[in-house]
Amino acid sequence: MTKALLIVGCMTCLPLHANAWGMLGHRIVGQIAEAHLSKKALKGVKGVLGNETLAMASNWGDFIKSDTSYNYLYNWHFVNLPAGLDKQGVFNVLDKVQEPNVYNKVPEMVAILKDNNSSAEQKVFAMRMLVHLIGDLNQPMHTARKDDLGGNKVAVTWFGEKSNLHRVWDEGLIEYQQLSYTEYAKAIDYPSTAQLASWNGLSLRDYVYGSYEACNQIYAKTKGDDKLSYQYNFNFLKLLNEQLLKGGICLANVLNEIYK
Ligand SMILES: [Zn+2]
Repeated sequence: MTKALLIVGCMTCLPLHANAWGMLGHRIVGQIAEAHLSKKALKGVKGVLGNETLAMASNWGDFIKSDTSYNYLYNWHFVNLPAGLDKQGVFNVLDKVQEPNVYNKVPEMVAILKDNNSSAEQKVFAMRMLVHLIGDLNQPMHTARKDDLGGNKVAVTWFGEKSNLHRVWDEGLIEYQQLSYTEYAKAIDYPSTAQLASWNGLSLRDYVYGSYEACNQIYAKTKGDDKLSYQYNFNFLKLLNEQLLKGGICLANVLNEIYK
């Protein structure tokens, strides 16, 4: 009985944290990253993925959720961080958390890709998950609160349709721009010299902190039952595009480092 309840409980809560950036968000991050790869990294990525682009590899981490043998990857898509932390506070949590999460799985994927003894199959897995995880890591609602499941429990409407805060950031805002992923990547891939200079020097946990700061801004301006539409798009489009671009640069830097 208890077991049955648990299973039902899991079935009802799993899809809540279901996505990440939706299809578009992940592909935009992959597409931008590809444009910032060194020659060596381009060759290295091709050596692993063949003709599968980073953009097309990026959604695999979500697609496999329909296969129960991959349920163990459930926690890999996010890291929960409590409110009110400063930078060191975030770092302390990241250092302490033992269970798999979007932050501590990245170095493992990197290690598989760097290891000459990894099989081709292991490398494809690691590459696809790396692209996906770096996307998730820069989606602000993937570094958000545990008690509301990263905004999944914050019910809002998006242009009159029932939604939640997490989903608005996964999909709603991005889809509202009505661009394909290639158009989107092309439209925002103009990092300023200052942005590049600051982002290039960041560690992975700095990127998590940036995402956490972005989620704090979002929480401060979005409450349950809010009716979100034009004004929300106007207020947050800049932050959305910055996180997407930053995710692409972050991924390119990680890959350039692997294949230097
Ligand atoms: Zn994900």
